[in-house]
Amino acid sequence: MREIITHAPIQTRSDTLHKQERMSSLLASEAIIRIKEYATGKAYPRIDLWNTIGAKAETDYQKNCQPDETRNTFVQFQINERYRLLGSFYDISPNGRVSIRDDSSDYQDFVLSQIKRFLDMGIFVVSSGSFLRCDLCDYVFAPSQAAIAACPQCKDSNLVPTQKTGLFMPISTQQRSEAASSVKVYPQKTGLCELKRHLFTLPDNIQISKQREFGVCLADFGVDPEFVLDPKISLAMMGLFLRHGYGDLHTVIQGIDSLGNLAPYLAIIDNKPPEFVVHGTLPPIDSSKINPAKASFYFPFLVLTALALPNGISQEKLKCLSVEFQRTINQARYAISHINGLPSDNQEQTNTPFPKEVLENFLNYHPQLGYQQLHCYIYEQLSHNPNSSLLRDIRQMVELFYGKI
Ligand SMILES: [Zn+2]
Repeated sequence: MREIITHAPIQTRSDTLHKQERMSSLLASEAIIRIKEYATGKAYPRIDLWNTIGAKAETDYQKNCQPDETRNTFVQFQINERYRLLGSFYDISPNGRVSIRDDSSDYQDFVLSQIKRFLDMGIFVVSSGSFLRCDLCDYVFAPSQAAIAACPQCKDSNLVPTQKTGLFMPISTQQRSEAASSVKVYPQKTGLCELKRHLFTLPDNIQISKQREFGVCLADFGVDPEFVLDPKISLAMMGLFLRHGYGDLHTVIQGIDSLGNLAPYLAIIDNKPPEFVVHGTLPPIDSSKINPAKASFYFPFLVLTALALPNGISQEKLKCLSVEFQRTINQARYAISHINGLPSDNQEQTNTPFPKEVLENFLNYHPQLGYQQLHCYIYEQLSHNPNSSLLRDIRQMVELFYGKI
């Protein structure tokens, strides 16, 4: 089955143009796929899963839609806009990419079939009981025993009990421990620590139905009709969904902040969970900052570097990385032009194979080490022992890790 490397589902929002950092997980997965393709000589699929359901998506639609614009058209415009930005800033074509929306009928039908299966297996449970309702805005949000003092929607503290039927996912300590030990997370130390923190702070009986205007309807299972499925549960079924016709979900790349929204649930409901690769949060990246000369800095250099920095990249760090990037690009340009300028009888000398460990370091998510080795190679090997037979490889490798030169 085809191996799938992709990003965690990305929320569709209307402010993409001025917040390009929201595409960093997509850009990072594209960068890793290109390295995989270079290392293996095989083509990998590009699969993009879009999270179109949720409170923020609904608010965004209500605030920013055109008069008479349907929710469907509004969401598709956001997705098309992302693909337009990928093409115009990073030269990534939308052609051949598979775009999956979590509100599509295919995805929702699959989710409903899985809910039924999980109910039969006892992984999900429908149960009635007392819930907290906000007296001010009427939002019903948690079982009454939950230690919540204010409404998550309007922050009012006047909460009253109400009888409701919801959908739940009970989890045992053993399930948490198994999930924590079976899932691979990179970078291991920080990523695993973050995953465990989320896994072990979840309640024993997670309420996975939410009061929302839009979502997967649970009424057929006996759940109160104002509840829909918590969208993070349907997204946690992404591996199960992709296995039906797309391939085997092997790697999911995502920001460390969103690890808790996907990985714990995916690890519990999917018996073949993928590995998770986390990258640090990038500072705000406005489209006006990305000119053609700078585009290679943002992709692939910055997104690959971010894989080693789960604690995030500050504005100061961004400036240092920009200087480091420019220095190496200049060195590579000089080395390549130097080789091109050599007289022909000086060419075809000793062959120095490109260090394989550079590729391996990136594919094992140690990009800092990979960049160090690449930098040394470009500077030392090429400056002192130029060899025209390496020119094509050098150019390809530099473009793979630093972008077009
Ligand atoms: Zn409220």
